[in-house]
Amino acid sequence: MTLTAHSQPGARLPFDITRIRRDFPILKREVAPGVGLVYLDNAATSQKPVQVIAELTRFYRDHNANIHRGVHTLSVEATELYEGARVKIAAFIGASDAREVIFTRNTTESINLVAHGWARKFLQAGDEVVVSEIEHHSNIVPWQMLRDERGIVVKYIPMLPDGTLDLEVARQIIGPKTKLLSITAMSNALGTIVPLQEIIPLAKAQGALVLIDGAQSVPHMAVDVQALGVDFLAFSGHKMLGPTGIGVLWGRLPLLDSMDPFMGGGDMILSVTMEHSTWADVPAKFEAGTPNIADAIGLGAAVDYLSALGMDEVRRHEIEITDYALRRLADVPGVSIFGPMDALQRGGVVSFELEGVHPHDVGQLLDTRGVAIRTGHHCAQPVMAALDVPATARASFYIYNTTAEVDALASALEATSAFFGVGS
Ligand code: PLP
Repeated sequence: MTLTAHSQPGARLPFDITRIRRDFPILKREVAPGVGLVYLDNAATSQKPVQVIAELTRFYRDHNANIHRGVHTLSVEATELYEGARVKIAAFIGASDAREVIFTRNTTESINLVAHGWARKFLQAGDEVVVSEIEHHSNIVPWQMLRDERGIVVKYIPMLPDGTLDLEVARQIIGPKTKLLSITAMSNALGTIVPLQEIIPLAKAQGALVLIDGAQSVPHMAVDVQALGVDFLAFSGHKMLGPTGIGVLWGRLPLLDSMDPFMGGGDMILSVTMEHSTWADVPAKFEAGTPNIADAIGLGAAVDYLSALGMDEVRRHEIEITDYALRRLADVPGVSIFGPMDALQRGGVVSFELEGVHPHDVGQLLDTRGVAIRTGHHCAQPVMAALDVPATARASFYIYNTTAEVDALASALEATSAFFGVGS
């Protein structure tokens, strides 16, 4: 028997926002009596459609068992569903072989896996890893830890005042000592879309490997690892309609084969004696212990959902709503927006400040009107330092957000602005 996930892969659906919203039960809830939810914190995590929730329930209700090597029916079914999710995810990112998809907990673990399994093995003191100033901490800290342990050098492509990267400096710092360019496709703090087509060739020309932090790009736009010509791609399931606790590292097969495992234990070995052990082939080599079976299957259902909508349609919707938000928020007294002002240059993220009001106060007042945004440094403290602000307020959009919700955000901000007497 071949089991496939119970969601419907392949069927293309029109991008009908009313229908989409019906799939997300949480969007109907009130956060206080009479106060409906306006969820604009999607860069932190997305909401989940009934299709994903149902897939998780179905797995636990009908198929739950541990995977691999099981001879009984449930174990065989669970294994087929888990491996089936791997195949779907491989197709979603254009991977040529499903073995190149490693299940991790999240983007953070995926990047750390490369730092431990590849960089620790192959980099020496003086070798350079190039990142950018707009990275999430998860693409800075692992390299700094390796710098302190191994003496590698971490270099940064700086951010320009408009939140884009300084490509002139990129051309200067990516050189013969660069062994890895590890860069985000899109900033979670500002929304800036990084021009990968211009930066990747700089690294490739030096024979360096390229890791893309796709935490903010894979959920929001079509990403094809072959077309990008990169070596690793890291992303998180929870930001793309999937469950928390499941993420992906994609890597080229020969590279993954050459790497050391990150963790040792069950399922990642070929043989174990009292003296030594040998490793299983990829992907098992990197999936020690019982993996997050149910959530991997849930992520497969999320990928079905996004594929049915079409990632180009997802991106088109986000450009529209972001463009509307940029124009609408610019009209609110006291609001300054950070990052590029062209919606084509940014994903569905608008980071801003309200003159003289701490972003946390803005966030709290918005919450009283049901508008959920994020405030703080967004795990991107170097960006805050470059902007010379302690924190920003950030609204971030996804497939279910409407221009009416942007209006709700704008009026809540207008009320906040009036409450604090901004500009008076
Ligand atoms: N990279 C980027 C660009 C992100 O936005 C995030 C999360 O916000 C991460 C990495 C880390 O993702 P996770 O916390 O799922 O590991």
